[in-house]
Amino acid sequence: MKTYLCQCGSKLFFHNDRCLSCGASVAMCPSCDELTTLEVGLTGDVQCCRESCTNAYSRCKNAVEHGICNRLVLFDPSESSPLCDYCRLTTVLPDLSVPGNIDLWKRLERAKQRVLYSMERSGFPIDDGTPRLSFEFKADVGVSVMTGHEAGRITINIREADSVAREIARVNFGEPQRTLVGHLRHELGHYFWERLVLDHRSEEFHDLFGNERNPEYSTAMQGYYDQGPPADWPTKFVSAYASMHPWEDFAETFGAYHDMLTVLATANHFGVTNLDLDTFDGLIRAYARVGVMANEFNRDMGLLDLVPEVFVPAVVPKLQFVHSLRVDL
Ligand SMILES: [Zn+2]
Ligand SMILES: [Zn+2]
Ligand SMILES: [Zn+2]
Ligand SMILES: [Zn+2]
Repeated sequence: MKTYLCQCGSKLFFHNDRCLSCGASVAMCPSCDELTTLEVGLTGDVQCCRESCTNAYSRCKNAVEHGICNRLVLFDPSESSPLCDYCRLTTVLPDLSVPGNIDLWKRLERAKQRVLYSMERSGFPIDDGTPRLSFEFKADVGVSVMTGHEAGRITINIREADSVAREIARVNFGEPQRTLVGHLRHELGHYFWERLVLDHRSEEFHDLFGNERNPEYSTAMQGYYDQGPPADWPTKFVSAYASMHPWEDFAETFGAYHDMLTVLATANHFGVTNLDLDTFDGLIRAYARVGVMANEFNRDMGLLDLVPEVFVPAVVPKLQFVHSLRVDL
């Protein structure tokens, strides 16, 4: 993610709602697409400090009540506590009276803000497309909650926001990474498949990923959990899980593509590489360079690798298919 500048000259970071140097209140202005200092208006509204920005705004309800959001909403005097465009997408919250749940929810919302923000700026806008996107963040209460996607509704078990539980699951499932941003990118892959591939690009999808109706999803899932991934999965898929079914292959590839773009956008912001979204081959080359560097940083600190260093030849055309789904901004 890029960093921003406060009026006082200090750096601001994506989730900041206050400048740590001068103490000014800051927020993400939807018109300027920047973190800006706020001025309090006369009628309960706030204003972005930029001279060119003349709209009146409100702070998001989740900012005022829980400090978990820093996005502004266009001021509407008839709405006393509006939710921002991203918070509004969450339709089910965990029981916030249960100790610890506010903190887990906060981590999920922040990961969601980060993922949606980057995705929108790379040509995958979250607008009023069909199906409508929504998020349900649920805890196991009586029944266990499955993380997944169905017809635009993304469900995440809030246990995934608990670092210890998530690390145990990561080791048990033998995954190189298991993160909230990773879960969200994967599930958004299923969402965008339904929106941009089904009924639009099916034939190309079948050629690259296989037919999602043969085998049926439930048969494929049973086979995967009984027998595990095929031994040669690393030569064909971006992850072991991707080998389960064409839908999972697409979601995993979509996630890997957005991992790549996000890392490259940050590297571009800090002058390490040039991000040129018009040339797919250039993206792959830039990622190979930046990925090696990022992994060495992580190994320097005894952490797990950040990214796969190379995409095998069979995976590259699948990534290119995801790239071709972008809309020009
Ligand atoms: Zn400042
Ligand atoms: Zn503004
Ligand atoms: Zn919000
Ligand atoms: Zn999936």
